[in-house]
Amino acid sequence: MEIDDIETVAVLGAGNMGHGISEVAALAGYTVNMRDIKEEFVQDGYEEIEWSLKKLAEQGQITDEEAGAALDNVTPYVGIEDAVADADFVIEAVPEKMEIKKDVYGDVEQYLPEDAIIATNTSSLSITELSEETERPEQFCGMHFFNPPVRMQLVEVISGGHTAEETLAVTEALAEDLGKTPVRVRKDSPGFIVNRILVPLMNEACWIVSEDAATIEEVDSTTKFDMGLPMGVFELGDQVGNDVTLHVLEYMNEVLGEAYEPAPLLEETIEAEHYGKKTGKGFYDYEDGDGAEIPADAGSEAIETRLVAVMANEVGNLVGDNVSDPDAIDEAVALGAGFPEGPAKMADDAGLEELVGTLEDLHEESGHPRFEVSEGLREAADAGGFHEDDDDGDVTFTDIELRYPGDDVGQIVLDREARMNTINADLLDELAVAIDRLEADEAVRTILVTGKGRAFSAGADVTAMAGGTDPLDAIDLSRKGQETFGKLEECDTPVVAGIDGFALGGGLELALACDFRIASERSELGFPEHDLGLLPGWGGTQRLMRIVGFGRAKEIIFTADRYDPETMSDYGVLIEVVGNDAFEERVHEFAAEIAAGPPIAQRLTKRAMLRGWEDIDAGLDLEAQAFGHLMNTDDLTEGITAFTNDEEPEFEGK
Ligand code: NAD
Repeated sequence: MEIDDIETVAVLGAGNMGHGISEVAALAGYTVNMRDIKEEFVQDGYEEIEWSLKKLAEQGQITDEEAGAALDNVTPYVGIEDAVADADFVIEAVPEKMEIKKDVYGDVEQYLPEDAIIATNTSSLSITELSEETERPEQFCGMHFFNPPVRMQLVEVISGGHTAEETLAVTEALAEDLGKTPVRVRKDSPGFIVNRILVPLMNEACWIVSEDAATIEEVDSTTKFDMGLPMGVFELGDQVGNDVTLHVLEYMNEVLGEAYEPAPLLEETIEAEHYGKKTGKGFYDYEDGDGAEIPADAGSEAIETRLVAVMANEVGNLVGDNVSDPDAIDEAVALGAGFPEGPAKMADDAGLEELVGTLEDLHEESGHPRFEVSEGLREAADAGGFHEDDDDGDVTFTDIELRYPGDDVGQIVLDREARMNTINADLLDELAVAIDRLEADEAVRTILVTGKGRAFSAGADVTAMAGGTDPLDAIDLSRKGQETFGKLEECDTPVVAGIDGFALGGGLELALACDFRIASERSELGFPEHDLGLLPGWGGTQRLMRIVGFGRAKEIIFTADRYDPETMSDYGVLIEVVGNDAFEERVHEFAAEIAAGPPIAQRLTKRAMLRGWEDIDAGLDLEAQAFGHLMNTDDLTEGITAFTNDEEPEFEGK
C-alpha cells in the first residue's frame, strides 16, 4: 500500500472525533465513508460537518464551492459492509472501550480489502493489544488526532509492537496529505507523547494544591503568566475534562506504576462530578462563578521549577525508553497543547542539573516515586541538555554570520555573498541555531537580519530543484523553511529585517516573518515563483496576505513582478525606505530604538498578536491578561516616571 493507492477512507464512529476526522479527509479530497451504529448518530455527525464547513466558508477559509465539494465527498453509512468494502484506509473513532473496539475490528475485517490499513484514534488503549485483535497487526497503527481535528495540527502516529514501517510511512503521508503534521511515536506507550507530558503535569499541579503548597490560582498564574503556557494547568484540565485526565492517568498508573498515582485533589474533583467546563464545574465554577479568573501576578518560581522538573522527568522517560526524541517531543507538545516552547527546550533553558536537584530534594522530602529521576533525564543532564546534540555551542557558522553591533542588538548576517545569499537547507539549519542563541541571550533585546553584499537574499537556492525533486522531499523542505522562519515570528525578541538589494522569493518570505522591514532605495522585492512554476512555499502565501490583504498579495504573487521599495512601502510591506548611503546607520538606529523598548510588554504584545492571528478571541483574552500582568512590572513604573519627568525610560525587563 502506498499513499497514492488511497482514495477511500472509512471513518468508524461519527461522534466528536469521527465527524471531525471525516471533515478533514473530505476537505483533502478523499472519498469518505462515515459509519455509525444508528441512522440518527451518523446523521448528527453529517450535520455537524455541514455546519462546520459552512462556518469555514463564512470565515473565508474555504470557498462555498470547496465546502460543497467536501460535503459531497462524505457518505453516511450504518451498514458495515457498505462502509468498508471499498475502503483503502480505516480510521476507527468509536468509544474508548477495548471491548467495543475489538468487536468493531471483527466486523470490519469480514469485508475490508486485505491490503487496507486500520488506524485507531484511541487516546489511551494499547495499540499492540488492539492490533492483536485483527488479522493484520502489521497493517495496524495509532493515528491520534487532537480535538477538534479541523483545527488541531498535530497527529501522533503510533507504532504498535507489530506495526510495519510501511504502515507508519503511509499513515504519516496520509496525515500530511490531510494538511496535518504527523509526529512519530516509536513505541506503544501510555499517553503517547502529548498526554504523557500533560497528564502528569496536571497531576503534579493537583499534588501541589493537595499538599497546600499553593492555591489553584497561584499554580495557574505561574503556568499561564510565568511559563507562558496558553492556559493555566487547571484551566486546561477543566477544558479537556478532568474525567478524561484521570482516566489516562489511571491507565499510566496501571501500566507504568506508582509514580502515576492520582493526586487526592484530582480524585476528589471527580468524586464530586466536577468534570470541568462540560459539566459547569471543575476546578473552577463556570455555572455560578466566573470560570477561570487567573491573577497575572500570583505566580512563584518554586512552583515553576517543580512543574518544569516533573515535565523534564517525563521527557527523560520518553527519550530513555526510545519512545521519541527531544525534537519530536517539543514539536508534538507545541502543536498538540499550544506550548510556546516544548518541554525539552523549557527544561534545557531551566538547566537540567538544577531540575535534577529539585527532583532529588522533593524525593527526599516526600519519598514519592514520581520524583525519582529518570535515566533519560540523568543522561541528558550529564550530556549538558536534551538538545545537546543540536546545541549551538560549537556550531561554526559558514552560511551566516553572527554580530553584536552594540545597543543590545544581535545581528544575523546572511553570508552566501557569491550566491546572492540564496537559502538552502544548511543555511536554514544555521539560521535556526542563531535565532535560538540570540533569543536566549538576555543581552540581546532586538534581532536584526541583514544580507552581505548586494542582496538581502535572492531567494531559495533552486539549483537543487531543477530536474525535479521527490515531492516528499520538497514538502519537507517547505516545512523546514516555514518552521525556521516561523521561529522569528514566534520568538519573544522583536526582529527587524534590513533589506539592502534583492529580497526575492524565499528571501522576501524570510523578511515577512520578521516584525519590521526597512529597505534601501535600490532594493527590489518580489515573488518570482510563478515565473518558475513554483509558489512561495516558505510561508509566503500566508504571511504576505496578512500584511497587505488578499488583493495585493495575489497581485504580487501572480504577477511575479519585481517591486520597487516605494510601492512596497505603500502596500505596507515596508515600514520605511531609506537612501542607500544612509541605510546601514538607519537600520541600526531603528533596531536600537526597538531594543530600548519594554521587553515584557513587547514579548506579550507579540504573543497576543500571534495568538489572535489564529483565533481572535484567544488573542483578545491574552491581550487583556497581559495588560493586567504589566501593571505590576518595574518597567511600567519606569516608563510612567520617565514620562512624567520628561526623560528617556531605561527598561530592564522586570
Ligand atoms: P464519541 O462518543 O463522541 O463518539 C463515538 C461514536 O462511535 C458514537 O457516535 C457511537 O455511536 C459510535 N459507535 C459506537 N460503536 C460503534 C461501532 N461499532 N461502529 C461505528 N461507530 C460506533 O467519542 P469521541 O470523543 O469521538 O472518541 C472516539 C475515539 O477517539 C476514542 O477512542 C477516544 O479516546 C478518541 N479520542 C478522543 C478525543 C476527544 O477529545 N474527544 C481526542 C483524541 C482521541
